[in-house]
Amino acid sequence: MFLSTPYLPRAYIDKMRAANLQVTMPRAAVLRALIRADVSLSQTEIYREVVQENISFTLSSVYNAISKMVHAGILQERLFESGRVYTVVETDRPIRVTCVSCGRSLFLNDSAITAFHREAMARLGFELKDYTLSIRAKCRPDCPGPVNAESRAA
Ligand SMILES: [Zn+2]
Repeated sequence: MFLSTPYLPRAYIDKMRAANLQVTMPRAAVLRALIRADVSLSQTEIYREVVQENISFTLSSVYNAISKMVHAGILQERLFESGRVYTVVETDRPIRVTCVSCGRSLFLNDSAITAFHREAMARLGFELKDYTLSIRAKCRPDCPGPVNAESRAA
């Protein structure tokens, strides 16, 4: 399938434009992969996802797209002992919980936590506009461990 214009939800197109980044096919595909996954992914996992769309990109064009979007603040890169993982910087779900062991992330928008921050800011005389919160935790007692566990098992 050939797409003449890269499909991406409007909010992400606006984010790209605000960051002075053109919405190219590889960048859109990388963003779609991360939005679909809704968890942090390694470069290899992103590439695997992108290839499933039946659009042929080279590994380097995907890596380049990731790198440009990290520099533009659209993606966040985190380094774990197993390697780097990437997530979309979310402003509508400002709370990111990341597993300290496997590096998986999920995003939340919790009204109780937002209310807590709003009240804390009000006590300091500030009006909360937006916030991001990064929580490090262990995902579950039987966490699979580092992201690249599958390659170690091979
Ligand atoms: Zn974990």
